[in-house]
Amino acid sequence: HVKKNPHSYYQIFNRTMHIHAISLLQLKNDLRLALARQEFELHYQPIVSLTTKRINGFEALVRWRHPVRGLISPQEFIPLAEEMGLIIFLGLWVLKEACLQMRAWQLKFPELANWKMSVNISGKQLAHDNFVGQVKRILQETEITPNNLKLEITESCLIEDPQSTITILQELKTLGVEFSLDDFGTGYSSLSYLHMFPFTTLKIDRSFVNSMEASSEKLGIIRAIVTLASNLGMDVISEGIETINQLAQLKVLKCQYGQGYFFSKPLDSKAIETLITTELATGNCDESDSCNNS
Ligand code: C2E
Ligand code: MG
Ligand code: MG
Ligand code: MG
Repeated sequence: HVKKNPHSYYQIFNRTMHIHAISLLQLKNDLRLALARQEFELHYQPIVSLTTKRINGFEALVRWRHPVRGLISPQEFIPLAEEMGLIIFLGLWVLKEACLQMRAWQLKFPELANWKMSVNISGKQLAHDNFVGQVKRILQETEITPNNLKLEITESCLIEDPQSTITILQELKTLGVEFSLDDFGTGYSSLSYLHMFPFTTLKIDRSFVNSMEASSEKLGIIRAIVTLASNLGMDVISEGIETINQLAQLKVLKCQYGQGYFFSKPLDSKAIETLITTELATGNCDESDSCNNS
């Protein structure tokens, strides 16, 4: 039933909807063409040992350089790419690009032999028929050692289809690929079956780190995650470390690794190369607290 005199209401409503629909439609159209137009690029954020402050790897983070809108955040277009099915192709591009970059850096800097390149994988990619085959092919094509590759998976993938996720991860693990559970603490995964997945690393979500100073509950959760990880033989990376105080507290809690603006923002490959050069020039240091490298 149409209510009395709805006309003015609908007009306003429709105009807003219309603008929104057009820009979304436009964005989706642009997204469909973006791979062919080579508008995606990867930035890399260093992952650092909290005790020595030495880098031991990077997380690859995709950006979309839109010709009109400028740099667009993955938070804006990854959900669209997932919805449109494009994430399969985009995900393969990201994986290959990250592996090629890692290989190129290793050829230039042999010291990077044991560093890890971490790549975010969407649940839609895991659900795809031949994910394992695709990863194998990219490992071969890029000639990267599987031990140098780490895949970041979020908790939602564990819930949706735990059995098939376990099978896929186990198969890749036999090749030497490692896995991190990303954004840990924000999802609903059951602690009771965490041990069935071959994760080597838990990544504590940024939301815990940025509220740890204000909230003793959040601090307690971080402490609990570090203990849990240690009992399961996993290590811990804290995301989003921005202050020296957060770093100090995380070290007290015995969190081993971290990433965040305090160390470095995600940077393009050229800037990362400069950073690697500086890092290697500052000399070696073992993983002990007595190391005062800063
Ligand atoms: P994520 O995997 O949890 O990545 C960490 C996010 O935290 C990145 O945002 C990074 O820039 C940001 N970050 C790191 N340190 C700090 C800090 O100290 N402070 C603050 N405020 N932020 C920090 P980004 O690059 O915008 O990526 C957002 C999310 O988009 C990622 O979260 C990931 O879920 C997704 N994503 C990014 N690249 C890819 C990709 O290639 N494939 C897939 N499937 N998802 C991706
Ligand atoms: Mg991640
Ligand atoms: Mg994360
Ligand atoms: Mg996150």
